[in-house]
Formats: sequence, structure tokens, C-alpha cells
Amino acid sequence: MASVDEAPAVATNGSNGVAAGIPVENPATGAVIATVPNLSAAEVAELAAKARAAQAGWEALGFEGRGAILNRAQRWVMDHADRIIETIVSETGKTYEDAQLAEIAYAGSAFGFWAKHAPEFLADERVRTESVFVKGKKLVVRYAPVGLVGVIGPWNFPLTNSFGDCIPALAAGNTVILKPSEVTPLTSLLMAEGMRECGIPEGVFQVATGDGETGGALVDEADLIMFTGSTKTGRKVLARAAETITPVQLELGGKDPMIVLRDADLERAANAAAYYSMNNGGQVCISTERVYVEAPVYDEFVDKVTEKVRGLRQGEPTGFGTVEVGAVIFPPQLDIVERHVADARAKGATVLTGGRAREGAGRFYEPTVLVGVDHTMACMTEETFGPTLPIMKVADAEEALRLANDSPYGLQASLWTKDTARGEQLARRVEAGAVTVNDAQVNYAALEVPMGGWKTSGLGTRHGAGGIRKYTKQQAILVTKLAPKKDPHMFPYSARKSRLLGRALKFLYGRGKRA
Ligand code: NAD
Repeated sequence: MASVDEAPAVATNGSNGVAAGIPVENPATGAVIATVPNLSAAEVAELAAKARAAQAGWEALGFEGRGAILNRAQRWVMDHADRIIETIVSETGKTYEDAQLAEIAYAGSAFGFWAKHAPEFLADERVRTESVFVKGKKLVVRYAPVGLVGVIGPWNFPLTNSFGDCIPALAAGNTVILKPSEVTPLTSLLMAEGMRECGIPEGVFQVATGDGETGGALVDEADLIMFTGSTKTGRKVLARAAETITPVQLELGGKDPMIVLRDADLERAANAAAYYSMNNGGQVCISTERVYVEAPVYDEFVDKVTEKVRGLRQGEPTGFGTVEVGAVIFPPQLDIVERHVADARAKGATVLTGGRAREGAGRFYEPTVLVGVDHTMACMTEETFGPTLPIMKVADAEEALRLANDSPYGLQASLWTKDTARGEQLARRVEAGAVTVNDAQVNYAALEVPMGGWKTSGLGTRHGAGGIRKYTKQQAILVTKLAPKKDPHMFPYSARKSRLLGRALKFLYGRGKRA
């Protein structure tokens, strides 16, 4: 298990030495706050061996035994919320509110949800068959843990999107190795400490800190990979997993459109546009990344949004209520945001507010509203993942839908209209894994419904029954109790038996009777 030393920065993993350590920076101040080990492939293999040795015992605890530890962990998160928030804020530079609402609330609810629902989602299923050949036999489908799950996470939500996916994997009876982003590993290490305090057996949950190569090594070792990150890296993970035929679940990037129709509650839509594009500094996979507004309400909507975004406070978060928009977490992300805004400007877009990186300590990009944009511009077609909001005027809902679907991504989308029945119908025409009407992002809190991307936004889903079954192997069990010494289809073959079978098949399926 990797561990961490707080500043002054020193590497803590024996075999790697200081040179191989990864410094962790506070993006809001630029200070290096810790250094973590960059685990080698051999070290990942050692963790995997430990995990495999621990798996049978963990599975044998059953839902009740595992659930007890998960419920304890839920209380631990609530008891240590302040410390977890401080840790998240220190390595991301996000606001305290972003850490509380999107991370603490999620972990708290997820521990309880999976402890409660794992037994129901993974219960043995008795099956009644329509096949006359198998009538009378006992048929059971059971869900067996895959064994060792490797979870690879991004830097934008170190608790929710890295550790969060470990919870259902553990509830299903798997051991887990979590490879957090090298940019934000401290929260995962803190969670490992918490899980130990809650009594999780040695080797069941381990953290492998390191960079992309450590992630690649985990792909080689695990029985299943749950990956959250960019589409570019997701492709690499999928290709590497093909070598060992390891199943992969991918939660990738997005370019979520917001469609504002002429009958929308404009005040609510404008508040939502400002919030859901700028919360977490715009670094949310399901951020509102582009807006299409019907012409009759375009000017009013743009004025409202611009005024709200202009009023946002930005800077180093020093407590609750201090700022609304935090730092740009990952250094290269700032280059992407700057490139998208420069490209839009060069092609004729107008910046109504923001439009530049802030000077001074830390890494910040001003909350930015862009108009006069179109699909020739990167800000409308590529994931920006920063505090920018491009708004485009459209003639009608049809044009908005066409443009919304004109994207390789299909993670999420939102529609804004007072005619909710029409909104629901239009939602069905949006190519995205989730669509909200008069809302955005909050569907993520409903752990009952699937969350996952279409197109290049992902493969598989988290949440709901599928969100835990994906961590299992299905096994079909057939049991024959009462049976003759020999079934009619067994050897020897005879022309008479085959004629009879032919007639029986015609009777059964000849007129599409059983179809
Ligand atoms: P990233 O793809 O750069 O990195 C993600 C993780 O992959 C990191 O832990 C990294 O070390 C690891 N990695 C890098 N190369 C690897 C390799 N070759 N093999 C295995 N692992 C490797 O993503 P990021 O920049 O950390 O995160 C931002 C991206 O994540 C955005 O695109 C965002 O939309 C996406 N995201 C998606 C969701 C979702 O649920 N769909 C949630 C959060 C973030």
C-alpha cells in the first residue's frame, strides 16, 4: 500500500526513492504539499498478490459482514468530513462547497446505498424457462465477484469518481486496488486509512499511487478495470486490456449541451447555466459545456447569464462561503481552456466576461461567457473542462437538437421548457446517456438510475443494479433432480426419433406459435 508524507515533500516508498516520487501541488497556491510514490509494475503485482490472497475471506464475509464495514465507513466519512474536505480542497483548489456537496454527500450516500442494496441486486435469481427441453429443472443465475477490481480515477473528483467506484466493487465481494490520479492522490490515501479504521481486512482495499504507467500495470493485473478519465486515455486502457481479455468499464469525457426553449423559465435556466458550467471550476464530466438558445429569448438569457457569471468570486478557497469558483486543478488543462477561448476569438466570437487566466499565485481561469460561437470552434466541439460557457443562438428546437447531437460525445444533456411533456419527448431524441428537463447534474445523486455515456463518452454504467452487477461474473446453474436413466435425445440416434422430434418442433414453432 502506498502511503504519503506531508510537506516537506519526500518519497515514502522504499524501492522508488525520492527521484521517483510524485509531488502533489495545491493548485490554488502553487505550493507542493506532499510527495507520493510512483509505484512500479512489480510493486503493483505485489499489491495484486496481496489482494488475491485476501479475496476469498472477504467474499466469505457475505453481504452482512461486508455491509457492516461499509456502514461503519459511512459514519467514518461523516465524522471526518472536515478533514476529508480539507484534503480534497488542498489537492484540487476547489471550493469547500464543491467538496462537500459533490464528494462528501456522494460518499455518505453511496456507502449506505450499496450496503443496503447489494444483497438485493446480487441475489440468486430463480428462472422459469419456456424451453420444453429444460422444463422441470431448477435454473439459477448467480452473481459471483470477478475477483480483483482495478479502479483508475481522474483528478476532478478524488473522492466521488475515484473512491466512489470502489464501494460497489467491494460490496460485491471483490478486492480492490485504486489507482488515483497522480495529480490528486491524497484523498484516496486518506480513505484507505479510514477503511482500515473501519475494520476492512488487510489486502482488501489498497491504493497504488503513480502515473499512467502504474495505471497500465494495474490493467495487466486486475480481473476488471473500472476507468474514469479522458476518452483519449480510455482508448489506451481498452487496447491494453485487450491483451489479457480483461473487461473494462469506461466513464469518459463529455460536451454536455443545454437547450433553452422559448417557453423556459429563463431565470431558473440562467441560474442553472451559471452554476452547472462553473461549479467545480467547470471540471465536471457532466458540466454544461455549450448552450443553444431559441432566438426569441436569446438576448434576455445571455444578459442574465453574463450578469450572474460576472458576479462570481474566484480565488483560493479558505473556508465555506469564501469563493464560488476555485482553481484549475491540472496544469495542462489551463492550456486547453486558453486554446479554446483564443480559437473562438480568432474565429469571430465575443467574450462577454472573463476570457483570461488570472495573474498572481495559484492557477485560475476567469469565469467566461462567450457568444457568437458556432461548430467551427473548438469551444463548441471539444471538451473544454474549465470555467467557460459558450452560448449559441438557434432558430428552433430542431436546430438545437441537431447541433446537440453533432458531437462524438454523449454523456449528458439538459432541456429547459415549461412544457415538460414536450421536454420529455425531446429528451428521447438527444443522443446521451442521461437527459434532464429543467435540471442538470442532480441525476448523479439518484444512485438508483444508471449513469454512463453513449458514443465516445463511455462503455457501461455506474449506479443502479447494473452498477454493481458489472463487478460480477454471471453463473448459470442447472440442477436436475428427478430424471429417467436416459433422455430421449441421448445416443443412439435413430431416424424414427428424429422424425418425431421434427414433428414436435413443427408443432411448437411452425406457426410462430411460441415466438
Ligand atoms: P486522464 O485520462 O488523463 O487520467 C485518468 C487516469 O488514468 C489517471 O489516474 C491517469 O494516471 C491514468 N492513466 C493515464 N494514462 C494511463 C494508461 N496508459 N493506462 C492506464 N491508466 C492511465 O483523465 P483526467 O485528466 O485525470 O480526468 C479528466 C477527464 O475525466 C475528463 O475528460 C472528464 O470528462 C473525465 N471524467 C469522466 C467522468 C465520467 O463519469 N464520465 C467523471 C470524471 C471525469
